[in-house]
Amino acid sequence: MTPLSNGTSRDRLRIAIQKSGRLAEPARALLSACGLSWRESRDKLFCYGESLPVDLLLVRDDDIPGLIADGVCDFGVVGRNELNEQAGARQSIGLPAAYQELRALGFGGCRLMLAVPEAWQWSGPEQLQGTRIATSYPAILAQWLQEQGVQASVVELSGSVEIAPKLGTADLICDLVSSGATLAANQLKPVQTLLESEAVLAGPVRRFEDQRAQLAAMLLRRMDGVLKLKDSKLLMFRAERATVAELTRLLPDAEPLTTLAGSEEGPLSLQTMCHGAVTWQRLEELERAGAQGLMVLSVERSLA
Ligand code: ATP
Ligand code: ZN
Repeated sequence: MTPLSNGTSRDRLRIAIQKSGRLAEPARALLSACGLSWRESRDKLFCYGESLPVDLLLVRDDDIPGLIADGVCDFGVVGRNELNEQAGARQSIGLPAAYQELRALGFGGCRLMLAVPEAWQWSGPEQLQGTRIATSYPAILAQWLQEQGVQASVVELSGSVEIAPKLGTADLICDLVSSGATLAANQLKPVQTLLESEAVLAGPVRRFEDQRAQLAAMLLRRMDGVLKLKDSKLLMFRAERATVAELTRLLPDAEPLTTLAGSEEGPLSLQTMCHGAVTWQRLEELERAGAQGLMVLSVERSLA
């Protein structure tokens, strides 16, 4: 079987990720953290899985939903913006849903927003009646306009959306925003969020009926382990019994404290898994509240 053939039954999983761009490196890092490794092919379109029968396809992010819909790939790492846009486009021409968001991955965060010329006084969606809006996300925008009961014309552009108002091809834009610097450089200001986006793991709506089912379940379980531990640290310290209540209050994002050892008198040895950021400031605060010998340990993997 050639690597790209679309077999209905396969014993290897195929995951599509972005070849280069914002999501490429974090997607690889996530999959590596799940224990996958690959032998790269020379043309770097296809990476053959070595540690497990899970291969990678390196493509443009725009192609990922379609590859899943066609059964060429089983999973994909893609922005929610792209996935929802293509799902909306399929829906608008009466095609059935072919893929779904399985996990939010915590990177590639951005927002799909309306942005208007800085001089505009924004008063709400009703102001959009009769305007022209430039976007690369026509399906998401059209659906949102419909929900708002507003009629506006959608000007579809594949790139450089932010210069459309200056060129006079649109009155405002609907585009991805992360820092807002691009908007500001074009004298635009963000006024309304249509979608909170981040990278997601997308998969087919149908179930696997061959060996891929077990592989997919294993991959998802590992991914859940990695995602859960992403910002988690194991915190170890000693503390007098009397200070435990206050220390617990300072650790709202941690699991209940576990006592490792301790005699009737003297300090307890305690540990907990903390799921939020453990900054120096927090450690100093814990120390002031009575924690001694604080240690912060990275947690690599867990099957909890
Ligand atoms: P490709 O060559 O794969 O088509 P691209 O230019 O479409 O690349 P990138 O610019 O790398 O793609 O963006 C990929 C994804 O990163 C976006 O679809 C979005 O989900 C996410 N992203 C995060 N922040 C931003 C941002 N500020 N602008 C655009 N995309 C962003
Ligand atoms: Zn793209």
